[in-house]
Amino acid sequence: MVEALTGSTTLIDPSTGQAFDTVHQTSREQVDDAIARAVVAQRAWAALAPAARAQALRDFATVVGTRVEELAALEVVNSGHPISQARWEAGHVRDVLNYYAAAPERMIGKQIPVAGGLDVTFLEPLGVVGVIVPWNFPMTIASWGFAPALAAGNAVVLKPAEWTPLTAIRLGELALEAGLPDGLFQVLPGKGSVVGNRFVTHEQVRKIVFTGSTEVGKQVMAGCADQVKAVTLELGGKSANVVFADSDLEKAAATAPYAVFENAGQDCCARSRILVERSVYDRFMELLEPAVKGVVVGAPGDPATEMGPLVSKAHFDAVSAFVPDDAAVAFRGSKPDGPGYWFAPTVLTPASRTDPVVTEEIFGPVVAVLPFDDEADAIALANSSIYGLSGSIWTRDVSRAIRVARGVESGNLSVNSHSSVRYSTPFGGFKQSGLGRELGPDAASAFTETKNVFISTD
Ligand code: NAD
Repeated sequence: MVEALTGSTTLIDPSTGQAFDTVHQTSREQVDDAIARAVVAQRAWAALAPAARAQALRDFATVVGTRVEELAALEVVNSGHPISQARWEAGHVRDVLNYYAAAPERMIGKQIPVAGGLDVTFLEPLGVVGVIVPWNFPMTIASWGFAPALAAGNAVVLKPAEWTPLTAIRLGELALEAGLPDGLFQVLPGKGSVVGNRFVTHEQVRKIVFTGSTEVGKQVMAGCADQVKAVTLELGGKSANVVFADSDLEKAAATAPYAVFENAGQDCCARSRILVERSVYDRFMELLEPAVKGVVVGAPGDPATEMGPLVSKAHFDAVSAFVPDDAAVAFRGSKPDGPGYWFAPTVLTPASRTDPVVTEEIFGPVVAVLPFDDEADAIALANSSIYGLSGSIWTRDVSRAIRVARGVESGNLSVNSHSSVRYSTPFGGFKQSGLGRELGPDAASAFTETKNVFISTD
């Protein structure tokens, strides 16, 4: 990405390093105009019958479903995502919309027994919601915010990341094509310091959904405090993949690369620390090496590709800084030669548990493997992080699986698997990985205020 003085962003294809498009940056005045339109649109939207809002979201889902190929192609060129994964992402947006299309007719309050009358609660929409999205999964993460927010009766203004705005912009157009009212869902590309910051400071924006780095998330949370504005934060991670000696070691080793190298490691859920019980450490490394070398790294448009390039030159430099010439590299996978921001899958065996490659989120295809002594040590090591987003536990002992799952301070764990995100289950982080939960059955109610009304019968 190159920021020109003209207020536009030049987009670069990460697989070639070539510029291919420019996108206008929204000014602060334009953000204010958009929020004013959203305020008007939200009132009309909330006044619609719940079934009409449900139908509108189903129509939006249907249109997205007819454009899966188009959206996937945009993500391939803008973000370097392998086409097979980009297709999944576009289909996921359709599915998320369909799932939350059921919510408008199920925003059910309570009737609470009290003396002298009837007491009921209403789940009132907040108004305008600001959704701020990172560059790693541009359309899926956007949908986790806008779909439940719209379902709950809100309007949405959405800011995509500067490097990867194209799929979000297209989704904004498809919403209109599907018949969503003008102003209800607006996509505003531009700078975080301008557009994102204005969402935080504007009094008519009643909630911020921020996904991105922990550093910027803290600034957003501090900004929201000024107006006691609601905020959901989905931030960084340094998740552990814990492999016990009694596990199916072959399966654990064969799947471990895909739990960290998917999307070139640019995944907040990446299991970027593999913790292996000491007695099977050497055997695990023997099994891991061919699995890592077998990851197909190549052109994002090729259906056989499993891993593409890093998103940008700046990010390539940041990831490279974690792997200097004297780094403890055990082995590496392959990468294409030539232009583009290619980084081979890399396995490190750091000597210390406090090495930055063990403690810091690298957000690239780099994994640290560490031995542990016993169950207590595994839990302590998994928890020795400021983050707590996801993780995996490999063991054949069901009791141990449950003990460790309860012991690890993390929002999303999977046993004998590396479950990815499901729209029907809650997602979010412990500690500095975030605040609040997205997805799952309760997400729409996170975009409401509970109002209690007592009606006297006297
Ligand atoms: P980032 O924090 O740099 O940017 C995220 C978004 O915030 C972008 O749209 C950016 O323009 C905007 N922004 C920047 N400054 C802002 C400000 N002052 N006010 C308001 N908005 C501002 O993050 P990134 O580099 O785009 O994404 C990578 C990070 O996102 C990683 O740390 C990753 O772990 C995290 N992430 C977390 C999840 C999750 O669900 N927990 C998912 C994906 C990514």
